Amino acid sequence: MEDCIFCKIIRDELPSRKVFEDDNVLAFWDINPAAPVHIIVVTKSHIESVAAIDKSNSQLLSDIFEAIAVIAKDLKLEDGYRVISNVGKNAGQTINHLHFHLLGGKRLSLAMC
Ligand code: 5GP
Ligand code: ZN
Repeated sequence: MEDCIFCKIIRDELPSRKVFEDDNVLAFWDINPAAPVHIIVVTKSHIESVAAIDKSNSQLLSDIFEAIAVIAKDLKLEDGYRVISNVGKNAGQTINHLHFHLLGGKRLSLAMC
């Protein structure tokens, strides 16, 4: 998508601190971290959110979660971490490109919402 910030990062039109890349997935440090480790994991194809997952693209979710497991090991998050995906305005989604927040590096708040 032309104006999507994450598509621009994927096309290297915007800089990012990448931590993982394969054919379908890119992961990079969040620009405004909410925890000592805050990684954004995105599909390389532009999908609006979890709400747009269907049979035609759901294989990408395994790619995403396989990547998350690798990144968590690389970043030594053996004490645990949280994976979040915001969908739509009630969840505060600000970038309409499917992404998962990988948060860790400290004892996270137990509040889920
Ligand atoms: P959302 O609120 O949509 O779930 O999450 C979007 C996330 O993307 C936010 O945590 C925000 O800090 C991050 N973000 C927004 N713009 C950029 C950017 O240009 N570069 C990076 N690395 N992260 C960004
Ligand atoms: Zn996009």
